[in-house]
Amino acid sequence: MSGTIIDGKKHAIDLRRRIKIATNNLKSKYGITPGLAVVLVGNDPASEIYVRNKGIQTKEAGMESLEFRLAEDSSEDDLLKKVEVLNNDSAVNGILVQFPVPKHMSQQKIIETILPLKDVDGLHPVNAGYLASGLKGMVPCTPQGAAILIKETLGELSGLHAVIVGRSNLVGKPIAQLLLKENCTVTICHSRTKDLKETCLSADILVAAVGIPELIKEDWVKPGATIIDVGINRLDAPEKGPGKTKLVGDVDYNGAIKNASSITPVPGGVGPMTIACLLLNTLIATCAQNNIEFSDLGF
Ligand code: NAD
Repeated sequence: MSGTIIDGKKHAIDLRRRIKIATNNLKSKYGITPGLAVVLVGNDPASEIYVRNKGIQTKEAGMESLEFRLAEDSSEDDLLKKVEVLNNDSAVNGILVQFPVPKHMSQQKIIETILPLKDVDGLHPVNAGYLASGLKGMVPCTPQGAAILIKETLGELSGLHAVIVGRSNLVGKPIAQLLLKENCTVTICHSRTKDLKETCLSADILVAAVGIPELIKEDWVKPGATIIDVGINRLDAPEKGPGKTKLVGDVDYNGAIKNASSITPVPGGVGPMTIACLLLNTLIATCAQNNIEFSDLGF
């Protein structure tokens, strides 16, 4: 058996197309254009690329993209003040501070300063609480994207056993909550889990969010399982030429695909869904801030 490849790029393009239509409906019906503010501290090259891509895709979706840059040696107070200004700016519906921030700044303090209604990254403890309580709120983008791929691949998830490897606030825990909401039986594994292989082997849906290249092997995969690889690991690739690198996930893709019914590749799987879900959150936040029913936008 060889599994089918879940094409995250295709799913993300379709999601962004639907978001653009809904954004146009918001403009024509209510005269409101969603605004997404992204704050970047310092000049980290990878963050520069992420922020540029976010800006391009925000504009493509018909939204206003606002970028703010602070110098690497700015104080934490400078950044928190900037966030407060954005909290109070009615043209800004979503705020994202690009992480990582310099070491002298507290990521948690920044997360907690963003208004929960504008927290399009879904990391504020209020939003994490809503998610854990099964209530509406902002859902972190990557887990949301992963859950959409799972739903669109499998349809009804009720009663399936989902095993999540990784328990971070950013990925593992929110994915577990989203799949619990879909009536999966959820097992969360982490660095202290015993019998990781046996637990993975019992999964109908196996989500890897660890950060260890190719940790999940072919013989950890139950025949017919759906594999969602959230991991992004950059490795040296001398075979491609001197100094070249390649991206691999947390799953041994070439091995796992032999047992899986479907699997996300890295790159091109979960990754492209993250920005699409950021735009979706910006649209949802704009509706919530203006007392507009999201369903009114025909999404
Ligand atoms: P993290 O370091 O915060 O968490 C890793 C988790 O893995 C922890 O809960 C830890 O307990 C668990 N873990 C570590 N070693 C383990 C082991 N040997 N066995 C089982 N569990 C183990 O990482 P994160 O932020 O959750 O990110 C996880 C991966 O997802 C990384 O590769 C990251 O780059 C990637 N990621 C991708 C996207 C995307 O857009 N696709 C977004 C965020 C993170």
